[in-house]
Amino acid sequence: MARIVMKFGGTSMAGTERIRRVANIVRAQAARGDQVAVVVSAMAGETDRLVNFCREANPLYDPAEYDVVVASGEQVTSGLLALTLQALGCKSRSWLGWQLPIHTIEAHAKARVESIDAEALVASMEAGEIAVIPGFQGLSEDNRVTTLGRGGSDTSAVAVAAAIKADRCDIYTDVDGVYTTDPRIVAKAKKQKAVTYEEMLELASVGAKVLQTRSVGLAMKEGVRVQVLSSFIGEGAPPADDLPGTMIVSDEEMDELVEKGLMERQLVTGIAHDKNEAKIILTRVPDRPGAVANIFEPLAAASINVDMIIQNVGRDKGETDVTFTVPQSDLARAQALLEDRRDAIGFNRIITDSKIAKISVVGVGMKSHAGVASTMFRALSDRGINIQAISTSEIKISVMIDEDETELAVRVLHTAYGLDAVS
Ligand code: ASP
Ligand code: MG
Repeated sequence: MARIVMKFGGTSMAGTERIRRVANIVRAQAARGDQVAVVVSAMAGETDRLVNFCREANPLYDPAEYDVVVASGEQVTSGLLALTLQALGCKSRSWLGWQLPIHTIEAHAKARVESIDAEALVASMEAGEIAVIPGFQGLSEDNRVTTLGRGGSDTSAVAVAAAIKADRCDIYTDVDGVYTTDPRIVAKAKKQKAVTYEEMLELASVGAKVLQTRSVGLAMKEGVRVQVLSSFIGEGAPPADDLPGTMIVSDEEMDELVEKGLMERQLVTGIAHDKNEAKIILTRVPDRPGAVANIFEPLAAASINVDMIIQNVGRDKGETDVTFTVPQSDLARAQALLEDRRDAIGFNRIITDSKIAKISVVGVGMKSHAGVASTMFRALSDRGINIQAISTSEIKISVMIDEDETELAVRVLHTAYGLDAVS
């Protein structure tokens, strides 16, 4: 007997037929004698629809009431799944966020899970009832409905798995695992049997949109074993216990997999691309202490995330150019904030470009191997791709390039690191 959390995304929950398919997958897992808790998203498109209603009702909407509205999508699907399971002869009930409750901080529309009261939930699972829990929602300290930010159902699932000490958290989605890169760009992209938490965190944060980034951080902190797998499985597909998807594991578990010959040791695990950043260049900024702080403080105060930053050593006349990236959706706001402070910062011109892309190469193997960066730079230059900026972490190298060269760069790097599947 194992204790399993199964999470289904919006595409899998879109309509009666799909919910019936989900119910069958859940029933099969429970039939293996496992205790099962299911976490569900709203039907695909539903949350967007609800957000629009809020905007129409009041453009300056109160986030607390926004949460009341948008949390309703998951209430519907959790009830429907429990009903469908009952129709298949399973014992099942729903547990809404406020009923457990799932305690969160009060930050409406972007709450964080603090703790989950899981006693009653576990008792009902032990009694053979399949628990269905709406993702995305929780309860604040002052008893109001909260939501966890878009894509938050992944985080709900991991939080529930941690709270009930589940053996595994299976995230059923519309892809069948984590690939070496986007298979729509590189047909030879390979599905990975396993990636580490750290790698998944980097991949999730640089545009491989399989899981909400925060859910990966939580899984790493709590040691939850997460599997990403497809919900579009046919009759006779292998059961999830055979691990048909991609497991997200600790470094130690990865080492064990390599020792057992189940995984190959790889230098690079994945190549991600992100077209959602924009570049800002401030020219002729004074080269003196405090100049850079003057630029980034107002952006931070406005919650604008700055990613890559390059500042050259001052040329003559004690001036320098400062280049950095912000999310494209924040570009106009960032530009306005900086224009307002032109005199205080003391720059000459502001140049922006949203036709850029960030390409990132990720792998824990980089910690112990030299040459990963130079391979990247050489492979790109051989194809005439110009690098406009570089940033690195212990397990990631990112470059900024022209957006039009994104697909070419991803293909070239996939080959350069030997990731192309042999067909
Ligand atoms: N329904 C929410 C959203 O669309 C949460 C989720 O599906 O993860 O953002
Ligand atoms: Mg999602």
